[in-house]
Amino acid sequence: MSRIASVLLPMPLPEAFDYAEPEGLDLQVGDQVAAPLGPRLLRGVVVGLREGAGGNRPLKAIEGRLDEPPLPPNTLEFIQWAARYAVDAPGQPLAIALRGARAPKPKPVKVVEVTGAEPARPTPARTKVIQTARGQSLSPPDLVRAAGVSSGVVKALIDEGVLAVRLIEAEARFDEPNPFLAGATLNPSQAAGAAALKAMLAADTAGEGGFNVALLDGVTGSGKTEVYLEAVAAALAADPTAQVLILLPEIALTQAVIARVAERFGAQPGEWHSDVAPPARRRVWEAVAHGRCRIVVGARSALFLPFPNLRLIVVDEEHDASFKQEEGFIYHARDLAVVRAKIEEAAVILASATPSLETLRNAETGRYRWLRLSARHGTAQLPDIELIDLRETPPEHGRWLSPPLVAAMGETFARGEQTLLFLNRRGYAPLVLCKACGQKLTAPDTDSWLVEHRYSGRLVCHLTGFSMPKPRACPHCGAHDSLVSIGPGVERVEEEAKELFPQARVAVFSSDTAFDAREARRLIEAMADGQIDILVATQAAAKGHNFPDLTLVGVVDADLGLRGGDLRAAERTYQLLAQATGRAGRRDRPGRALLQTYAPDHAVMQALKAQDRDAFVAAEMSERELAGLPPYGRLAAVIASGLDPAQLEVFVRTMAQAAPNTEGVEVYGPADAPLGLIRGRRRKRFLVRADRTVDLSAYMATWRARVKPPASVRVAIDIDPYTFL
Ligand code: ADP
Repeated sequence: MSRIASVLLPMPLPEAFDYAEPEGLDLQVGDQVAAPLGPRLLRGVVVGLREGAGGNRPLKAIEGRLDEPPLPPNTLEFIQWAARYAVDAPGQPLAIALRGARAPKPKPVKVVEVTGAEPARPTPARTKVIQTARGQSLSPPDLVRAAGVSSGVVKALIDEGVLAVRLIEAEARFDEPNPFLAGATLNPSQAAGAAALKAMLAADTAGEGGFNVALLDGVTGSGKTEVYLEAVAAALAADPTAQVLILLPEIALTQAVIARVAERFGAQPGEWHSDVAPPARRRVWEAVAHGRCRIVVGARSALFLPFPNLRLIVVDEEHDASFKQEEGFIYHARDLAVVRAKIEEAAVILASATPSLETLRNAETGRYRWLRLSARHGTAQLPDIELIDLRETPPEHGRWLSPPLVAAMGETFARGEQTLLFLNRRGYAPLVLCKACGQKLTAPDTDSWLVEHRYSGRLVCHLTGFSMPKPRACPHCGAHDSLVSIGPGVERVEEEAKELFPQARVAVFSSDTAFDAREARRLIEAMADGQIDILVATQAAAKGHNFPDLTLVGVVDADLGLRGGDLRAAERTYQLLAQATGRAGRRDRPGRALLQTYAPDHAVMQALKAQDRDAFVAAEMSERELAGLPPYGRLAAVIASGLDPAQLEVFVRTMAQAAPNTEGVEVYGPADAPLGLIRGRRRKRFLVRADRTVDLSAYMATWRARVKPPASVRVAIDIDPYTFL
């Protein structure tokens, strides 16, 4: 009997395609195959097999199975679940899952082997080389080093045919982590947390079902990392094939955690993020698929790696909005981590000093275990937080640092301690304006202001990456020398800090200066090492790191995040500022944080000052509950965009009429998106609010299926949106 294989291709197609299974191929679900599509041969994955031969027309046959590891069944199930949830084509998450498999293989490596031939002239050095090389596959330089001889000796033996050089494929091997190495001696609160996590993991082995979620909730510096590494050790020790994934929101943070994992377990973990070179990615992907890489530390897309035996997922800084992928396949890695763990019957640890309201709600209702670490480890104290009312003590004209902050910086510098100035704005100035005609400079095809970057001398659109040299004359009125830079970015604050403290070593940390993982690590290490006195940083450096000599944090514009006015503006501002101020005073010296604000009475500022997270959360929760907003209700957004405004308008009206009428669901819109134009495309939005009992993904899928956009219109659905632009 012949069989039909359904093959999912990594592209935005609505469903898997059927192919005939060639005689004798004996495919399995999960196999990677080459399948014809039109004139092309594509890589796909078998997602189903059934008896049959197809209908009237014969099916095209699969070309062959690829000599590559298959996707484990749970990974496939996760991909399909994620697509249904996101109301997107399953080929989209599959493309993410195959990213490592499609990367080029690492170059083959040269190894030296003994041929058995006798050397013409045996010398002690030659004998040593032959003994060292026997039974091993060392590269020529490694052999030279291991035998302790000069490279000439090895070369002569190769020339004589006593040794042969062979090219072998670099093996995707990772050193085995050792879970039995001793970790830090935990304090009582940490020990209680670690014990609870271990009990949770043991529930799996005891047959009580492995899926469990714990919230590890502790102030910055309380030792959450130490505690979750204990749980990682327990998971690895319980099962010699167990795999663990640690997810982090920023590449800069992955570097720090990789170092700690390597130290704790005596082995480098697999590293996974956009900055990892393709051959290295391929190596991690294969090693994970074969179960040979047991710990992965990575950014959100690591969630789609083909783990055959994933036992634990840690989501560190779980509240961080960077876990939300906003383009292409839209998903939230924290939420999907919980789903993946459920499919794998694995455990999840969500760690944060400022958990998201969604997670706190789950902890309050008992769906998640709630482990609190109350104090900083050792003698370290939380910093004192003071508000600087900019209405009373404003900076001098054309400056951004107020006199009280400057005074505190001076004292800190005089004591040989470090200052972090936090401003979540890249570049020199967020806006360039012509003082002759009043025009603000915007990108040609996008509704966003151009940001001035002094390092590069360019004006940059942060949304699309468009950039141009800063013009001499105003592009609107032609006036010369009329362009003025409005407001501060990190580069401008750096300039001011250098002017104020000419002897201080000042550096900037943003995605422009820490442009890759290595540069980020270099800056973080320089800061941790005391080689920087004043670090001006965006959020990339304000999270998670330990800087022992940092005793002052100055928040340049504490109100910045509140202006956006989206659902999570207050929550996000609170989280970000609590993180940033939490950088201060981590060792035995007390720290201080000064927040510059025009709204000292705002609930967020008051909660930060009083360090009363619970009061802030309670107030915010009751507002959300009244409005039926997350975590009490659910949201989804539709973003329709098109090159032709008239066609777009007609389409969104049709779409509005097609919205299914369902109890517990309200549809708002269409409305012009706040960013009404991106890359020449006009944008319109709908916002959908639903009760928690509604299957919002199913609702959105039904709605989407009722309309057929013209070719010029694109429709994106965003379940649980985090941006409303
Ligand atoms: P968090 O993740 O909660 O911010 P970390 O795990 O990074 O906290 O701990 C903060 C600092 O305190 C780190 O330098 C860490 O090595 C140190 N630390 C935490 N717990 C202990 C412990 N039990 N023994 C020794 N050092 C610890």
